[in-house]
This record gives sequence, structure tokens and C-alpha cells, in this order.
Amino acid sequence: MRTVSNWIKSFLLWELLIGLSLTGRYFLRPKVTLSYPEEKTPQSPRFRGLHALRRYPNGEERCIACKLCEAVCPALAITIESEPREDGTRRTTRYDIDMFKCIYCGFCEESCPVDSIVETRIFEFHFEERGEHILDKQKLLAIGDKYEAMIARDRAEDAPYR
Ligand code: SF4
Ligand code: SF4
Repeated sequence: MRTVSNWIKSFLLWELLIGLSLTGRYFLRPKVTLSYPEEKTPQSPRFRGLHALRRYPNGEERCIACKLCEAVCPALAITIESEPREDGTRRTTRYDIDMFKCIYCGFCEESCPVDSIVETRIFEFHFEERGEHILDKQKLLAIGDKYEAMIARDRAEDAPYR
């Protein structure tokens, strides 16, 4: 009996009709997909993407080399070396983040007492040469300088919830 019913279904192209009815049902509904990269989904100001080191408006780097971010990083992705400057303040002489180790947890920016290390909303980045995945202090400061307006806007938007 089952064989006969399968034969009749095959003869009437039953599976094809079921598939077409499903296609027809979704054909006129609003699309749930986007044409990336021309179209993009909304992003939260808390998005955890590419890292940056920030400066104060007078150009002084914020980081005071307290090493809290290095201590809290669960992936051991941050390496910091520091020494006192002539004016007695302490600053980093080395600040590296290994982006292959980073798991984008955000602990580093949460732990920073001076809002220095942050994760930006930038997620479209890549590395082409061996070793580029280590972001050193100069690269991180350059990212911070370039995107400071965006970073400050995102931090201000998120401030009521911190
Ligand atoms: S986001 Fe997390 S894993 Fe990445 S550097 Fe910061 S603390 Fe480490
Ligand atoms: S980035 Fe922030 S938490 Fe990390 S060493 Fe500098 S001041 Fe401390």
C-alpha cells in the first residue's frame, strides 16, 4: 500500500508542490536577510570589536600602566611593560595585544580605571602579514586617535548604564 501511495505521490510531483507552496508562502513576506556589506544591521554602542588606546583632549595618553587589564585578561592576550617618566608619572613602554588570543570578552575595558583601553564597534579588519595580529602601543593609539569621536559618542551613549 505504501509503495502505491509513494508511486502516486511521485507521479503527481507531490514533494515539488509542497516545496513550491513553501516558497510561495515566503515570497511576499518581508525579507529577514540583508545584502551585506551594502546593508548592515544596527550595532550596539557596547559592541566589542577592534581595540584602541585613548588619549585625553590635551593629547596625553590616558593609560597609567596600572596593568589591571593585563591581570584580568582571561586569554593572556595583553603584555605590558612600564617605567616612570621624568615627571614621576608612570607610563607604558610596551602595550601589546595579541588579537589571535583575544576572545573579545571586554574585561580589559571594564577594568580600566581611566577609560583608556576600549573596544570599538569596528569589526571589519584583517591581517595580511605574519605578526600583524600583535597590536602594539603605537597602533592602538593610532586607532584611538582616528576613531576618538566615535568612541566618545559610544561611551556617552552607554554611560547611563555603567
Ligand atoms: S577583550 Fe578580553 S580577551 Fe581580549 S584583550 Fe580584552 S580582556 Fe583580553
Ligand atoms: S589600559 Fe587601563 S587598565 Fe590597562 S594598564 Fe592602562 S590604565 Fe591600567
